Amino acid sequence: MSFWDLRSDTVTKPSAGMRRAMAEAEVGDDVYGEDPSVRALEERTADLLGKERALFVPSGTMANQIALLLHTRPGDEVIVGERAHCVWYESGAGAAWSGVQFAVAGRGGLFTAEEMRAAIKPRSAYLPNTSLVALENTHNRAGGRIVRLDETRRIAALARERGLALHLDGARLWNASVATDVAMRDYAAPFDTVSVCFSKGLGAPVGSALAGSAELITRAHRYRKMLGGGMRQSGVLAKAALYALDHHVQRLSEDHAAARTVAEIVSRARDARVDVSGVDTNIVNIGLVNERAGEVVELARSRGVLVNAIGPDLLRAVTHLDVSRHAEAAAHTLAEAIDETTTL
Ligand SMILES: *Cc1c(COP(=O)(O)O)cnc(C)c1O
Repeated sequence: MSFWDLRSDTVTKPSAGMRRAMAEAEVGDDVYGEDPSVRALEERTADLLGKERALFVPSGTMANQIALLLHTRPGDEVIVGERAHCVWYESGAGAAWSGVQFAVAGRGGLFTAEEMRAAIKPRSAYLPNTSLVALENTHNRAGGRIVRLDETRRIAALARERGLALHLDGARLWNASVATDVAMRDYAAPFDTVSVCFSKGLGAPVGSALAGSAELITRAHRYRKMLGGGMRQSGVLAKAALYALDHHVQRLSEDHAAARTVAEIVSRARDARVDVSGVDTNIVNIGLVNERAGEVVELARSRGVLVNAIGPDLLRAVTHLDVSRHAEAAAHTLAEAIDETTTL
């Protein structure tokens, strides 16, 4: 049975063109600094983000963890939005490697500068030292929500005033950039470090990057090796990411349109609660009136549509380059599965 897979944009498989580019990649040993494809990707990513340097890493988790290592000391506190990726989906790595704890600003994922102000602890020997603000744009758990540029700038201005470092988890910053027609470098400008993923909506099989000043990325390079992220002929992977930058960025708008279609169709299911106007990019959170998310997932799967249950009463559907053209049909199947499962 073949599936329409709306679980995540990480499930995309390299296209024929991408595989050809990978097969033809010029490579060398990147731990010796000799891989021309990796160097090309790092330079291009740094340029896109308006930073001095970028470092190719195996995953977004590693990029975020290196950022925590760069900006904090054990016992520090990091301000995040509710349900941040680095708190929920990184296996507790921030506590394990950097020894930090997290303070949540605001509700629902996004936060304002004022909400951040309330989360900053006063300097005191008794209190954790707030040293970093980590923003997520787009915000994954909040349903692909975009943090607006003006709010980003207000948050950054306050962080600077209070002497805090700034990291942007921009795993899906491409989506925010395309949806708002704001350049990646404009979103990235207020931050010391920015992580981006090539393996989500861009459709590359592996890889993320961390960008920042030359000084920070020199230190990041050492942490990458320490964490086991030094790779050898990684140019085959870098080439896939370069191909994605050439071919898969502007088309993200198709995924955003497909996500709105999914939201509209599924919102008509009687027991579904979807904030259609809150669908900023390619992620749709679907609330259910009762705790039957697991049952809906099973019924939809039996009819060829895959979605994730991210809570007992919450489903998530994500559009991407391998599924967006089927989004309408998949959404009808999903809406039927919701109606048949949740109605008492
Ligand atoms: C996917 C994602 C990451 C990184 O995940 P990996 O699977 O480790 O590449 C980081 N932040 C956000 C917001 C993400 O969605």
